[in-house]
Order: sequence, then C-alpha cells, then structure tokens
Amino acid sequence: MPGLVVVGAQWGDEGKGKVTDLLAERADVVIRYQGGNNAGHTIVRDGEVYKFHLIPSGILYPGRRCLIGNGVVVDPKVITEEIAALHARGIDTSGLKISANAHVIMPYHRLLDDEGEMKLGKLQIGTTRRGIGPCYADKAARLGIRMQDLLDEKILRQKIYAALEPKRLTLRPYAKDPALDLHAMTEEYRTLGHRLEQYIADTSKIVWEALDSDRLVIFEGAQGTLLDIDHGTYPFVTSSNPVAGAACVGAGVGPKDIDAIWGVMKAYSTRVGSGPFPSELHDELGDRIREAGGEFGTTTGRPRRCGWLDLVALRYAIRLNSLTGIAITKLDALTGIDPLGVAVRYLGPDGVSFDEFPYHQSVVHKARAELVELPGWSEPITGARTLGDLPPEARGYLDFVADRLGVPVVLVGVGPDRDQVITTGAAPDLLPAQPAESRAAAS
Ligand code: GDP
Repeated sequence: MPGLVVVGAQWGDEGKGKVTDLLAERADVVIRYQGGNNAGHTIVRDGEVYKFHLIPSGILYPGRRCLIGNGVVVDPKVITEEIAALHARGIDTSGLKISANAHVIMPYHRLLDDEGEMKLGKLQIGTTRRGIGPCYADKAARLGIRMQDLLDEKILRQKIYAALEPKRLTLRPYAKDPALDLHAMTEEYRTLGHRLEQYIADTSKIVWEALDSDRLVIFEGAQGTLLDIDHGTYPFVTSSNPVAGAACVGAGVGPKDIDAIWGVMKAYSTRVGSGPFPSELHDELGDRIREAGGEFGTTTGRPRRCGWLDLVALRYAIRLNSLTGIAITKLDALTGIDPLGVAVRYLGPDGVSFDEFPYHQSVVHKARAELVELPGWSEPITGARTLGDLPPEARGYLDFVADRLGVPVVLVGVGPDRDQVITTGAAPDLLPAQPAESRAAAS
C-alpha cells in the first residue's frame, strides 16, 4: 500500500500530526500537500512537546524524507526558524525538501491579510493573518513568487516589482515601511533563498520514485474538510483544498497513486474562527471539553469553539474524501461527561430536517443539531491500549459512530502521547495489530 492520504475530517486540529507521526514509522516519505504556517501540528514524544507549522511530522524519525509539496505556501522566515529550532534540539533535518514550485509568502501578503480582516470588521473570516490567503491569491493571479525564484536575484526583483504594482493603492499606508522597499526585500529574500537552497528540490519526483519502488508515502493534509475552499463553509474556510483529492495536485502525483485515505476526527467537534457550527456547545459543557482536550490553537493560542460530534458533517467528509478508514482522537477528553450527545441530523430554519450536509450556506448557518444521547463513562481511559481495556460505554460510543459512518475505525487516541493509542487491527499492514486475545475480548 504505497500511497496513503491523511486528511482532517472536521474543521481542522483533529490530531493529524499524531496519526501521521505514527504512520511515519513505516513510511519512506511524508509530504504536506497544501496550506501554510496557518496549520500547526503538536507531537508529544516521550513527554517532549514538538510544534510544527510547516515541517511534516515525520521529521522526528532519523533519515525520513519530509517534503513540503508544491501545493503548500512557504514563509521562508518561518521555515528557517523551524529548522533552527530542530537543530537546537539535535534533530537532523537533512531529509527535509521543499518543492521548487511552492509559492512564497512575502511581507506584503502578511500586511494584506491584516488589512483584509480589519476592513471586514464583523464579517472577518478569522484568518491567522500569516499572509496565506493573499499568497494563494497571487498564485492564482500569476503574480506569485516561487521558492526557485529566491535563487535568482534578477528574476526575484522583477517578480516582486510585478506583484507589488497592483497592490500599491491598498499598501499606500505602508509606503514608507522599509520591509516593503523593493531593493531591501529582494536582498532579504535572496539571502533567505540561499540559506534554504540545500532544501529546495523537485519533490514530485522524490514522491514518484518512492511510489515506483513500492515504498509507503504519506500525504499529509492540513486544516480539515469543512474548511476546504470549494467544499467547506465558504467564505469561512481556508484558502486551499484540504480534501484528499488535492493531495494529487499539491504533491504532483496522479489519482491512481493513492491507495488509502484516512480521515482523522476527534471524538467531538471543534472549530477555530468564525463560521457555522451546528453542534456547538455554548455552555459549561463546551468549556469543559475545551479544558479536557486542551483546545487552544497550536499556531495562534486561540481558544477553539467546542461541540458534540457531528455525524452529518462527518458523512459529508467521508463522501468528499472517499475515506477508507477513520482515526478517532481524544476519546479521553470525553471521560466524565454523561450523557454524551451526537448530532445525527440537522433541523433547518423552517423545521425541515436534513440527513445530508445542506449545500445551501444559509441553511447551514441556521441549522440546529438533532442529538442522540449515549451513556458516558467515568473511569480514566488514558491507559487503555486495546479496545477490551475500554469501559463498555466507550466501546458503545465508538461502535455507534463506526456503524453510522460505515467506515472502519483504524485507531483511537486516548491521550496526547505517542503510545496513548489503540490500534483496532483494521490496518495491520500500516499499524501494529492488536493482540488476538484482546481483539476477542473487545468483540
Ligand atoms: P492537527 O493539526 O490535526 O495535528 O491537530 P493539533 O496538533 O492542532 O491538535 C491535536 C492536539 O491534540 C495536540 O496537542 C495533540 O498532542 C493532542 N492529541 C492528539 N491525539 C490525542 C488524544 O487522543 N488525546 C488527547 N488528550 N490529546 C491528543
């Protein structure tokens, strides 16, 4: 099984980093295919916390090839800092490669992001203001600067000039900002380019070679399906395509190279920023889940909105991504909550009920979640390593979800650390299978 996509099945922050990290043990290559440093992965390894914004999670394995695909937008300052931070902890980064075609986030992209959000006022999207959206906009407008351009001063200056021209009016308040001076910017980014030169490569070819020799390649998505610019709750979405189909475009492979697609979902729902969230909890239960699950953004520290698991949105994610497996994380954060709500349907503004995710944005904004209540459990589950170790109510919760979604559960997270996971045996070639004895106990 050489090509496996790991995609967020909800609104992002599902714990994709941990799942990719587990898979990376057997993989040859891990490649990120979209997004920028608005994504954040937290990996806890032997009690040590690692936060990554751009670098794929597999970097902690010596010799693993960790690629940043052409579909990602790269802030050279951020990646330089991430590399330095890893070096400071003694981690080898020689396996890191950045696509020469990946677009570069420039200082004016960050300013435009800030300006755009301020002008929107109450209507703001809640972007991370890292310049990601304006960078993708320039890419589509053919005004982008790619990693390879950082290596040629003349081309870089010409491209920066061309990119700045149509933005002069909007950027007028910053006209005297030295960071936006054409020559200073060219010099600064050329220097960054030379510092990163050893990492710039044809990442699509590296992936192709690994797949051709039957090696496992993990395509790592950022954000989540409901934040997809085409399929999410537009305009409250990210500026790229997190869905699994985008793995092909953002890494440079054909659809036939994808063999399995895992959706990562939390045992409940969270959302950062604005936009509809039908199963949101506005009461102390929401606060409780936020505390138990540590629901504060890796990149921004923003508190995440919390709510019940939403099967309507998840069924939509299964359809959009053709999921072949689901990884359920953070089951432990639900310990002590009884009963547990699960959204099985939406009630629209006119009392109409929706089994499927409504295509009309106004309906989603006004929809309320119709809940089924399931019994909770009170005993801690962070030490469970097999399904049989879980209390019957926790198993009942997982069974209910798997049954309603119709996709096998491949693993269950019961704590932030790497070993706090239960593998169900559904993917024995990718994850160590659960001992036969425990499987029998669980069924
Ligand atoms: P990602 O962007 O999808 O990788 O998600 P984040 O890294 O932003 O959020 C996942 C957070 O949850 C990290 O802090 C992880 O260490 C933590 N985490 C992952 N799986 C579990 C789990 O099963 N239980 C608990 N309590 N925390 C988890």
